[in-house]
Amino acid sequence: MKIICVGRNYVKHVEELKNKVPDKPVIFLKPDTARLKDGKPFFYPEHSSNIHYEAELVVRISKNGRHIQPQFAHSYYNEITIGIDLTARDTQQELKENGLPWELAKAFDDSAVVGNFITLTKPVSELSFSLEKNGKVVQKGLAAHMIYPLDELIAFISKYFFLKQGDLIFTGTPEGVGPIAIGDEYVGKIENETLLNLNIK
Ligand code: ZN
Repeated sequence: MKIICVGRNYVKHVEELKNKVPDKPVIFLKPDTARLKDGKPFFYPEHSSNIHYEAELVVRISKNGRHIQPQFAHSYYNEITIGIDLTARDTQQELKENGLPWELAKAFDDSAVVGNFITLTKPVSELSFSLEKNGKVVQKGLAAHMIYPLDELIAFISKYFFLKQGDLIFTGTPEGVGPIAIGDEYVGKIENETLLNLNIK
């Protein structure tokens, strides 16, 4: 299983980090060891002092495929959840300034928090999602605001990577990212359904 992530896929998030709107999707990977599931806590690691939450819609690939055309992409997934792409912003800033790869900032252990999957009953583009931090909503997203919609992402990604059943795609975060702290409690929802709980220890 591999985890494929999309960066800079919502205009307001691109702006809050003072990045440029990309002219093609920004893609990076996390290893399977990055996956944190089943409501387990995240233990703040010593390698960073500025880890941010990024709430994102996450789809699970349901059959193998490469070179998938956008019009057929919808048949390669049928389950969705909300996830958190934990990002060491201090490390990422240093790597970006030096033009270096992002793995140390993005692919560390437990950095891909994944909620419970639900079966899709309508197009992804019609979904809204939210993240609450200690009882207060900090991120609200509308999939319709993705710069690159899911089916285009799958077409793009599958030109480079053989998508296999069980692979996860993190589809990018909307605005409102911020730092996590020990003791925080996060709740992730799609529409009004709670699918993710995360405690920071
Ligand atoms: Zn992200």
